[in-house]
Amino acid sequence: MIRLLYISHAVPNLTIEDVRAILKSSRKNNKAADITGVLVHGGGMFMQILEGEESAVLRLYLTIIADKRHINPRLVVVAPTADRLFQKWSMGNVECAPNEFEQIVQARSRRLEASNTDAFAGFAFEFAKMLFDQAPQE
Ligand code: FAD
Repeated sequence: MIRLLYISHAVPNLTIEDVRAILKSSRKNNKAADITGVLVHGGGMFMQILEGEESAVLRLYLTIIADKRHINPRLVVVAPTADRLFQKWSMGNVECAPNEFEQIVQARSRRLEASNTDAFAGFAFEFAKMLFDQAPQE
């Protein structure tokens, strides 16, 4: 099993209905493919964690990066894992305040400058989990 994390920019005209449509497709498709994770959205950015069987996650990632509802996807980390962080969620959703996203993007730049991608990934997973645990669940 692997866990993958990427960040992207939402297209400027993205609507809340677009995000709802993404979540609807995600929940349907991810359940069928046994993929779990969370989609964080806010301040014109997306951050998504996908976890599941390697080929299923990579196939989905290729579909997602071709999606015109976002641009400039940047793969932050992909790593083997024995367990899931979001085991109950075919795709959890968190709306994130722009300044919170700012924190994570700045942290990414700092960590990458220090060539410490693992540390950044740990930070990002914790950050997403923390946001997710605090958010009202649907
Ligand atoms: P359907 O679910 O049948 O499509 C549903 C609706 O969405 C239809 O009205 C269709 O017109 C519209 N739609 C489908 N694709 C697009 C598109 N590329 N652009 C505009 N409208 C479209 N998909 C997942 O399955 N799992 C995920 O975790 C996931 N995460 C995503 C995260 C982000 C940030 C983005 C932008 C997209 C994500 N998607 C995800 C969507 C993915 O890119 C595909 O659109 C989706 O997998 C297609 O599913 P489907 O063929 O079952 O289409």
